[in-house]
Amino acid sequence: MVIGAGVVGLACAYALTVRGQAVTVIDPDPDGDKASFGNACALAVTDCAPLSVPGLWRSLPAWLLDPLGPLSIRPTQLPGLMPWFWSFLRNANIPKVQACAAAQWQLNNRVWQDFEPFLHTIGYAAGVTQKGMLKVFNQRHNYDPLALEWQIKRDQGFTLELIEREQLKAMEPALSDAKQFAVFHPQWRIVDDPKQLLANCRHWLQAQGVQFVRDEITSILHTDKRVKGVRGKAQNYACEQLVVAAGAWSAKLARTVGERCLLASERGYNTTIAAPGIELNHMLFFAEEQFVATPMGLGLRIGGAAEFAGLAAPPNYQRSRALLTKAQRCLPDLVGGEGEMWMGQRPSTPDTLPVLGPSLRCAGLHYAFGHGHLGLTQSVTSGELVAQALLEGKMEALQPFSIARFA
Ligand SMILES: Cc1cc2nc3c(=O)[nH]c(=O)nc-3n(C[C@H](O)[C@H](O)[C@H](O)COP(=O)(O)OP(=O)(O)OC[C@H]3O[C@@H](n4cnc5c(N)ncnc54)[C@H](O)[C@@H]3O)c2cc1C
Repeated sequence: MVIGAGVVGLACAYALTVRGQAVTVIDPDPDGDKASFGNACALAVTDCAPLSVPGLWRSLPAWLLDPLGPLSIRPTQLPGLMPWFWSFLRNANIPKVQACAAAQWQLNNRVWQDFEPFLHTIGYAAGVTQKGMLKVFNQRHNYDPLALEWQIKRDQGFTLELIEREQLKAMEPALSDAKQFAVFHPQWRIVDDPKQLLANCRHWLQAQGVQFVRDEITSILHTDKRVKGVRGKAQNYACEQLVVAAGAWSAKLARTVGERCLLASERGYNTTIAAPGIELNHMLFFAEEQFVATPMGLGLRIGGAAEFAGLAAPPNYQRSRALLTKAQRCLPDLVGGEGEMWMGQRPSTPDTLPVLGPSLRCAGLHYAFGHGHLGLTQSVTSGELVAQALLEGKMEALQPFSIARFA
């Protein structure tokens, strides 16, 4: 049984189904909106650095003072979030950064190997293209080759392709002349429409006999340290093997077996413009402004922001508008009005690593959540690893992602 029909839950259901298991997926709204629908569409395989790095704190005051800046924390949420932020800041040291990057690389270096057969099986291979990503800077000197991000990428064997002004203009004619330098990441692939990817996956699973049940799970039922089922709002469900993949809601469920984990909802925003009046050839990440522009199947998607406002607060679409204003400065010919605005809840841990693998307290219970900014990228690989652990007892690869790190 899998709780959660986001990209991670469906990927777990897929990996179990191809291994011959009978799977049920429970979600109050299996085909409804979720983080997995409106994200920035990137298989961001070179992205291994954690969010918490030494020196980050220097940027925090300016970001927090800007009401529509890249980071915001709702004051009412602060007391509850203190343990998360404390842990986040304690991760900002070189050994922790290196350990995190090595663990992320363990997942990211096999993403395409896992994704490609999955896409063929669910009939979405044509929906993913290797467009690559340009991290764009105003000036060359704003790019610091000694910054940790680039050191980590070099350590992982990536050749950094430095793009100077003329070449950048040729690669992306729509960019403002103020943008004079970029680092190219040709490895990034773009999913045309993540919502459609999920629909294809759901339909394939249904065709294989996977049951989708509409219910919200409130607790995990267990006796003698073994999972026995789950309690839903509508009824109870019996099972002997359970994967919790409920995105930003997962920690609440882990708590019902007494397992602690630091997980925050890091809300992100975007706007999709159907007829933007410009064409981008690559995904763009604007380094100074901290937002992305993705050319995708539905048009141009402008997104970013990290807002800590809890799971229940209504979206503040001023953030989408603020991102759009920034985008109009960077891409001066961008048109298309307000577009379609969206907010999603990234399930984020303070060390940027997902929680994957078995519960320490309850046999038969496995976790697959907490992928933060990389849930789309790491979904299929996470499903593979969780299925291998659950069915074959293969645990070594999951050690850095164990929930034990929060005990
Ligand atoms: C603006 C933005 C841009 C992003 N861009 C990228 C990107 O370019 N590349 C990338 O790799 N990642 C990106 N991400 C991150 C990625 O979207 C998430 O990490 C990923 O979608 C998380 O998937 P999930 O399945 O864990 O959670 P979700 O998609 O949130 O799904 C969780 C599911 O669990 C269900 N659920 C919750 N509680 C219960 C319960 N009690 N009982 C039953 N079901 C329950 C929910 O209904 C939901 O369907 C982005 C995120 C945002 C917000």
